[in-house]
Amino acid sequence: MDGRQCYDLLVIGGGSGGLACAKEDHAAFYEILSQWTRAASILTFRASPTGPVMWRSSVLLRVSGASPSHTAAWTRRPSHLWLLHSPMDWVVSSAQLGKKVAVLDYVEPSPRGTRWGLGGTCVNVGCIPKKLMHQAALLGGMIRDAPHYGWRVAQAPHDWATMADAVQNHVKSLNWGHRVQLQDRKVKYFNVKASFVDTHTVCGVSKGGEETLLSAEHIVIATGGRPRYPTHVEGALEYGITSDDLFWLKESPGKTLVVGASYVALECAGFLTGLGLDTTVMIRSVPLRAFDQQMALLVTEHMAGHGTRVLRGCAPERVEKLPGQQLRVTWVDLASDRKDAGTFDTVLWAIGRVPETASLNLEKAGVRTNPVTGKILVDAQEATSIPHIYAIGDVAEGRPELTPTAIMAGRLLAQRLSGRTSDLMDYSSVPTTVFTPLEYGCVGLSEEAAVARHGEEHVEVYHAFYKPLEFTVPQRDASQCYVKMVCLREPPQLVLGLHFLGPNAGEVTQGFALGIKCGASFQQVIRTVGIHPTCAEEVAKLRISKRSGLDPTVTGC
Ligand SMILES: Cc1cc2nc3c(=O)[nH]c(=O)nc-3n(C[C@H](O)[C@H](O)[C@H](O)COP(=O)(O)OP(=O)(O)OC[C@H]3O[C@@H](n4cnc5c(N)ncnc54)[C@H](O)[C@@H]3O)c2cc1C
Repeated sequence: MDGRQCYDLLVIGGGSGGLACAKEDHAAFYEILSQWTRAASILTFRASPTGPVMWRSSVLLRVSGASPSHTAAWTRRPSHLWLLHSPMDWVVSSAQLGKKVAVLDYVEPSPRGTRWGLGGTCVNVGCIPKKLMHQAALLGGMIRDAPHYGWRVAQAPHDWATMADAVQNHVKSLNWGHRVQLQDRKVKYFNVKASFVDTHTVCGVSKGGEETLLSAEHIVIATGGRPRYPTHVEGALEYGITSDDLFWLKESPGKTLVVGASYVALECAGFLTGLGLDTTVMIRSVPLRAFDQQMALLVTEHMAGHGTRVLRGCAPERVEKLPGQQLRVTWVDLASDRKDAGTFDTVLWAIGRVPETASLNLEKAGVRTNPVTGKILVDAQEATSIPHIYAIGDVAEGRPELTPTAIMAGRLLAQRLSGRTSDLMDYSSVPTTVFTPLEYGCVGLSEEAAVARHGEEHVEVYHAFYKPLEFTVPQRDASQCYVKMVCLREPPQLVLGLHFLGPNAGEVTQGFALGIKCGASFQQVIRTVGIHPTCAEEVAKLRISKRSGLDPTVTGC
């Protein structure tokens, strides 16, 4: 063939979903290998405790009890696998086992020129650096609490450069870890930008312009998305940055305007405020649109009460550079049509994300997208309009834009492709957390969605305002610490959704998510013994329904 390299599976995109899919394909082999190793180790040790022993793979397969399909597959090429055993070590003498898998990953630098390594959004410009910077901000709050608990600590200012350096070093270690794991699992990594040539062929172009043709039986698209820039705000692209740049800044962004109402916008504004920076968040309409709106309101109320300036109902019109380095932003108040302006060091756009499909030449392969969202249309098997081409993660239509869903979808897809399972990814009851200064965790339906689906008469909402014990000694404001459980009204009151606003919301929500996934009812939740004294126990202590009109403020312990 025309110099092209042939694979069983090509994965385009080395982010959360793509890496999980590529690595999982080889995980099957390693699972079986470890079974063989264990079984053979016992037998050979019994046969010859001192000298090296060789076993043919077909023998080991029978010993290990591998499935008939795997046995058939591997005994077809018995010469490929020999295990050499001495009392101390095992050596596998074939590198050509399992399916041939390649991952193609390429990071297009941001308009500002920021670039990063393997691992995709989560590792480099998403979950990981975000959570670490959120943690840096939370530590500021703890330092303020500390004197109340008897610690004599100086209220020192925060140093961005030190934090950024530490965060970036951790991210680089993760980039490296991913490369090593691919190597260990014999997955070929190409640092190339991929585009389709036909339904089975992809052309990869390296940074230096070198082209590689690759073809495969199955192709998985996991190219994620990138931050959106506004198209009709003058100066937006020239002077603004996005989350693709924020985490890689060497110096503090200073006084910052965050534009957007997404969780990314609120999280960034939250940790910037927590790090002591003068921060404004400009929200055009509704914050956290896809989330429960009562919770979204409490999140923004808490942010406003803790130092973030929240401009609601405003839209930016122009960004100009002033003679110094500062930026002058003009905006309009949409209700009054009144113009206003402010001066900032940094303008951060967090107005949504665009799926990375534009450069893939999807039309050459006949892969269909939603013309409105630009996302790839997929079915329950993650298959696109072309049955052997799949799409997972943020680039796929209708999927939650979250790392764990991309990872699980990728793993299950690889397992199905290798015939190990027929299980489909279940996208229902996916828990998530917004890491604002007061964290908001949720799983299942919002109150609005539950009412829309079941009717108000059939929905019961239990709720409580509570005070975390940790807040009492430093006398922290707990006005927005709130939990609500949305249930069906008819006994046993199946839980439809849980919403938790408070410290460690991610940890709390993760635990309850299991129960809700298993179909827990309100009756079962309230029979669950709490762990005292925690914030999570407030969920198990819920008794007051919204319908009762009683005061939901928790008193006593
Ligand atoms: C600021 C921020 C915070 C977030 N926080 C969280 C969080 O707390 N929890 C959570 O669950 N999720 C979070 N997310 C979302 C999460 O990061 C994404 O949902 C997840 O990374 C999606 O994984 P993916 O595999 O679909 O794509 P990605 O991880 O984005 O990977 C796609 C990869 O494909 C590459 N690529 C694109 N086009 C091509 C091409 N043509 N050829 C080769 N390679 C290509 C990209 O460069 C990238 O490396 C956050 C996102 C952001 C932006």
